[in-house]
Amino acid sequence: TVSRLKPFGETIFAEMSALAVKHQAINLGQGFPDADGPSSMLDAACAAINGGRNQYPPGLGVPELRTAVAAHQARHYGLHYDPDTEVLITVGATEAIAGAVVGLVEPGSEVVLIEPYYDSYAATVAMAGAVRRTVPMVADGDGFRLDRTRLAEAFGPKTTAIIVNSPHNPTGTVLGTDDLQAIADLCIEHDVIVIADEVYEHLLFDGRTHTSIATLPGMRERTVRISSAAKTFNCTGWKVGWLSGPPELVVGARSAKQFMSFVGSGPFQPAVAHALNHEMDWVAESAASLQRKRDLISGALAEAGFVVHRSEATYFVCADPRPLGYDDAATLCRELPAKIGVAAVPISAFVDDPQPWRHLVRFAFAKNDESLIEGARRLARL
Ligand code: PMP
Ligand code: GLN
Repeated sequence: TVSRLKPFGETIFAEMSALAVKHQAINLGQGFPDADGPSSMLDAACAAINGGRNQYPPGLGVPELRTAVAAHQARHYGLHYDPDTEVLITVGATEAIAGAVVGLVEPGSEVVLIEPYYDSYAATVAMAGAVRRTVPMVADGDGFRLDRTRLAEAFGPKTTAIIVNSPHNPTGTVLGTDDLQAIADLCIEHDVIVIADEVYEHLLFDGRTHTSIATLPGMRERTVRISSAAKTFNCTGWKVGWLSGPPELVVGARSAKQFMSFVGSGPFQPAVAHALNHEMDWVAESAASLQRKRDLISGALAEAGFVVHRSEATYFVCADPRPLGYDDAATLCRELPAKIGVAAVPISAFVDDPQPWRHLVRFAFAKNDESLIEGARRLARL
């Protein structure tokens, strides 16, 4: 392994899922759902395969998916993108992030990451030969918020991009318009682009709504907006994602993407187009069901003695096991599968400076109710 990738090792998700399998634990670690997406979408994928759509799709992605992605953003956010020049289909949001970073960030320049950050961000910044500047979120009551002073300090003459993830993995925080505006003001002042990871855009709870930073004044022209079918339509294994933005940013990301994967999996693309066009009611029900699951696992964790943070969105809730006598989440998560048959993920895997985060554990709740109830029963033994 080259030196710039050595620090990243194996992803925490792979490590904890392997432990879960080994100990037949309930996997509340890796964020993937255990139910399938809408059946009409699954049928559309089978129809595409049986209909012979099994060769390389076009480089930008199949036209009906690019059109569906553009129409979806117009409907939900009033954001208008030209499907022929402003939308790129990628191999999951992961490749959209990597393509945007490698294709748009110069080596030696700086990328601002908000801590905790999704693990692929730091690794792709390293692959691009760029330098990350991290800004920690801070605890705020039972939730988390952006530290705007620290954020402003992270911007300087070398900053070329910031990656903004809202709704946020792993904390489940939804950034408010005021926080997004603070980021936007800095980006405009310093002429910085935003890579907006919005893969949880539809999974918000308690009536909250998602604002895309691309909708703020002056931001559409400097934002690469990224999303994915994975979490919206319960198909993490299909690896269909996308990015949209002004043509010059899409060209940059595409120039990298074409040599990473060339194109993504063909027959899944028309199926995701079908889902974006026809299955958003299914998604609303899925979000409502996730809210109930959040309540179930949050209640069980509190009952077991954890201090539970507020999860406003996503698949995840963070909890503090210190009242139970555990102050190192990484050690606890390595022990949990063997000890009680539950897998979870330490937040320290998502940060540069583990100190303020070392006690926190992330639990994924996109699981069937029986698994959650059994998981809760096992957690009560801690
Ligand atoms: N960003 C975030 C914040 C995620 O949680 C994930 C995992 N769904 C990804 C990106 C990667 O998405 P995909 O599986 O579509 O590559
Ligand atoms: N996004 C998922 C999570 O945060 C997992 C993705 C992965 O395993 N790389 O758990």
